Amino acid sequence: MADTRTEINSLGEFGLIQRINKKIKTNLPDTITGIGDDSAVIDLGDEFGLLSTDILLEGVHFDLTFFPLKHLGYKAIAINVSDIAAMNGTPRQVTVAIALSNRFSVEAVDELYEGIHAACKDFNVDLVGGDTTSSRSGLLISVSVFGRVKKDKITYRHGARPNDLLCVTGDLGGAYMGLQLLEREKQVFMANPQMQPELEGKDYVIQRQLRPEARMDVIYELAEAGVLPTSMIDLSDGLASDLLHICAQSGVGAIVFEEKLPIDEQTYIAATELNLGPVTAALNGGEDYELLFTVPQVSYDLIKNNPKISFIGYITDKKNEVLLHTNADNRIPITAQGWNREN
Ligand code: ADP
Ligand code: MG
Repeated sequence: MADTRTEINSLGEFGLIQRINKKIKTNLPDTITGIGDDSAVIDLGDEFGLLSTDILLEGVHFDLTFFPLKHLGYKAIAINVSDIAAMNGTPRQVTVAIALSNRFSVEAVDELYEGIHAACKDFNVDLVGGDTTSSRSGLLISVSVFGRVKKDKITYRHGARPNDLLCVTGDLGGAYMGLQLLEREKQVFMANPQMQPELEGKDYVIQRQLRPEARMDVIYELAEAGVLPTSMIDLSDGLASDLLHICAQSGVGAIVFEEKLPIDEQTYIAATELNLGPVTAALNGGEDYELLFTVPQVSYDLIKNNPKISFIGYITDKKNEVLLHTNADNRIPITAQGWNREN
């Protein structure tokens, strides 16, 4: 071992994953795809199996001062199911590992599992195992999910083609604005515990943060409409970052129209109130767990009337050139770090 020390910050999450990936070589003939997509792909013979894991860690991913345990349990399952949806698959089984400090009671664990059960029921998955251990501080939940997809229906991040339409489900930036509001109220409460939270009229964005849904509904509707996306990813890190993944892995570029971005009124109001800018929230706010996908233009008529789907732009042949076409008719590069109107 060399005795140099490199800070993880200097690589970032994606840099670190790339570094891990470089040293991993898959050997088994049934390992179709390893690291790099929303889930791993395994050849099961007549179908592909899909496998994915996500961790939620107290103090990093959630703050129990405002995150009810029941919602947390639901979210832990939903965000894993979302990665199966992003492969156009159907979730089947989950395992749940938890690490608990002695701060948690049996009743608290019951509450967490109430949410886990509710999500398993909603997404029609079976909880088939896990692990339980103690933690020195805080709560950790790690969920793994197994899913299935017909071989000719799988959707990777790397299939976007020039002229494909860029589609997104639901609306964007809400989960991030919900988090900002909850954190603001926490600060107010800590300064003065007598203060009542001011969250009236903000229920939708709060719910977007506390109770995200995996968009399995849209996966079923696309299949019913006979539409197979050419590429897909779920929006965990924000539209900008996740669109950059699709473009990088597909070797294409994209143009997104500011006026087409689906932004809920509550997101708009909250972003304006907190001086963040609704478009910035939509581009860079994470945790919406909506689906971003591309379809060939011929599919447009088959899904144009689905109110859950917005057509926000199109794919170009300009490798990694990902642009926002603003309402003022400027074209500005979209970067994962954030977007600045002054640029
Ligand atoms: P997502 O946001 O869809 O959950 P991530 O950004 O967490 O995806 O991960 C991207 C890819 O890197 C996935 O294929 C994931 O399985 C893989 N990955 C993430 N962390 C690790 C790790 N520590 N070791 C191996 N693979 C990893
Ligand atoms: Mg994902």
